[in-house]
Amino acid sequence: MIQTIESIPFSRAGVQLHIKRDDHFYPVESEAGRLLCGNKWRKLKHNLTEARLKGYDTLLTFGGAFSNHIAATATAGVLFGFKTIGIIRGDEVSPLNHTLRVAQSHGMNLRFVSRARYRQKSRPDFLQSLRVDYGDFYLIPEGGSNCLAMAGLAEMTDEIAEQIFPLPDWICVAAGTGGTAAGIIAALAGRSNVLVIPVLKGGFMRQEIEAYLFRCMGRRFNNWQIADEYHFGGYGKYDRNLIDFINAFYDTYQIPLDPVYTGKMMYGVFDLLNKSFFAPGTQVLAIHTGGLQGNIGFQEKNGKILTFDY
Ligand SMILES: *Cc1c(COP(=O)(O)O)cnc(C)c1O
Repeated sequence: MIQTIESIPFSRAGVQLHIKRDDHFYPVESEAGRLLCGNKWRKLKHNLTEARLKGYDTLLTFGGAFSNHIAATATAGVLFGFKTIGIIRGDEVSPLNHTLRVAQSHGMNLRFVSRARYRQKSRPDFLQSLRVDYGDFYLIPEGGSNCLAMAGLAEMTDEIAEQIFPLPDWICVAAGTGGTAAGIIAALAGRSNVLVIPVLKGGFMRQEIEAYLFRCMGRRFNNWQIADEYHFGGYGKYDRNLIDFINAFYDTYQIPLDPVYTGKMMYGVFDLLNKSFFAPGTQVLAIHTGGLQGNIGFQEKNGKILTFDY
């Protein structure tokens, strides 16, 4: 579903803002089903088909303690009949946070590893030791970002093309691993521009996305840009401005965002509008990639600073 937003700052600037509500894109309309949503469902979808075709009964993947991808993979296991193993970055904290409680209640076998060990997540010897411990499994990388993920993002891009003609001038998306951005860039094949808003600090996103595109598509693309000033100090970091923005956005548009991904992306889109980044007459589409399950654990950890519930 694409929503066209009636926004005073946008209409003043002569710019049209649309939001692709991929937070409402899930395989099953149920409480559990809604955890498998947004870009995490887009990226997992074709991986699940591949795992099934190749005869695997177990999925193994990696993520942090608040990971939307861990929640999504655990849910996919329940819905589609796979055993799931989650390798979690950092020491076990008791009691488990909301994300990990839900993952565990969906049958995910959790294994906590040190940050140093976690960094070896693509090394063959580490993966081999996991096969010794758990038996064979279908490996899904952190965030679900592999080349099969691109097929799901191409489907999302096709939905946009069916609903908005011509395609918006800018498609804005938050980036963690950069897999979602890469998938959209590839699917557009030059038809429109992608504005990538990294939520991690470090300035490595351009390289990550280039490498991903080259690995999966074997070529370079130039229909995209990075806006690197909206990470708020790093992954999971936030300040009062960001929280105020997310709360005000909910009050004004009744659209919930999260402080890790979509809140930073949307903050960036509004800030860039103020800085006249978007020319009058421009059509801008922001992707709501989902991730709202994370708000429950966020509120548990930081106090109820968001004024709306998940
Ligand atoms: C994981 C996630 C992202 C980042 O996706 P990548 O493909 O890792 O860049 C963006 N938004 C939400 C809500 C997410 O859960």
